Amino acid sequence: MSQLLDNIIEMLKIKSISGNENAIKQIVQWIKNNFTENGIFINEWNFDNASPVLLLSNCKSYDFDVLAIGHLDVVPAQDDMFIPKIDSGKLFARGSLDMKSSVAVCLDTLRYTIGKKISFGVLITTDEETTSNGMRNLQKLNNIKAKIVLDPDAGDLYNLVEKYKHPVSVELLAKGKNAHSSKPWQGENAIRKVISAINELEKYFPPLEQKPASDWVDTMVVTALNSPTTYNVVPASAEARLNFRLTENTSLEKLENILQNICAKTNCDYKILLSSQGVYMNADNLYIRQYLKIAENIIGKKINITTSCGATDSRMFADSSVIIMHGINGANMHADNEFAEIESILLLSKIQKFFIDELIHL
Ligand SMILES: [Zn+2]
Repeated sequence: MSQLLDNIIEMLKIKSISGNENAIKQIVQWIKNNFTENGIFINEWNFDNASPVLLLSNCKSYDFDVLAIGHLDVVPAQDDMFIPKIDSGKLFARGSLDMKSSVAVCLDTLRYTIGKKISFGVLITTDEETTSNGMRNLQKLNNIKAKIVLDPDAGDLYNLVEKYKHPVSVELLAKGKNAHSSKPWQGENAIRKVISAINELEKYFPPLEQKPASDWVDTMVVTALNSPTTYNVVPASAEARLNFRLTENTSLEKLENILQNICAKTNCDYKILLSSQGVYMNADNLYIRQYLKIAENIIGKKINITTSCGATDSRMFADSSVIIMHGINGANMHADNEFAEIESILLLSKIQKFFIDELIHL
């Protein structure tokens, strides 16, 4: 078997479930032990409340032509899923698809770039499946720059992801006035205020009952509604949690304008609990077009340009880098019987190397 596949299998045997500190340390150590050759530089960050972040690169500077990103933590699984099995070209194990195989591909590409006229790095986090605190802390340092980011934690061999939505979590709050529920006119019901605000907000978003013609629309979901639990009191407080997924059509500023207007009208308040960032690339970008051409030649098939409603760690580079979101094939991510198609691992490896060569000769 190739060194790439041997590496993947060794990595899959380590039970690096997010938060399992010992196993996370073990996989970090495994990487450090196996990429010791001349020409590879390794940096490690250990932030408070975060699992380690590793940067392996072919240069000392943090200014990259190409930076590949990935994570080596996995979601929980039964012990037997940490014994990799190969069956009819499929590699079964926890993390085979999400995403140790892809990280191994990127590290193999790193080896390929040693001594070449291109600055290449692989940025690896180990808490992506839970807090993403590693990446969050690194973002604050703002010390890593990249012209092009390869994100194989998105899409698959036949689908390159062009855009990711921007997730925003909002708390909606209302105050009212207590009264005995037998005399509701003496009180002010906070729940009703929150509900009117929700009703008003829903007018700005497509109805949830049917699947929209395209997934690429702004959405809003009420994920929680709380008030003091009583039988016979008009509640004096209520709150709701809302989760928005925004396309490039709605900036955070625009959403806040809508929230401000509606809150003024319905006598509510709001608080942004969490706002990360969308990734809005354009597949017409020169580098993405080049990558696509190489990839399509290698796999002998047209690649679809798709969008995603989820979120990706590469978003920290969304403002300054061209992000190419393209991965391997497989199924059952986060489920039993997770597998990756071995052929697709080898093809992604080939694509990355051809792309590097193309960039060098540009
Ligand atoms: Zn992942």
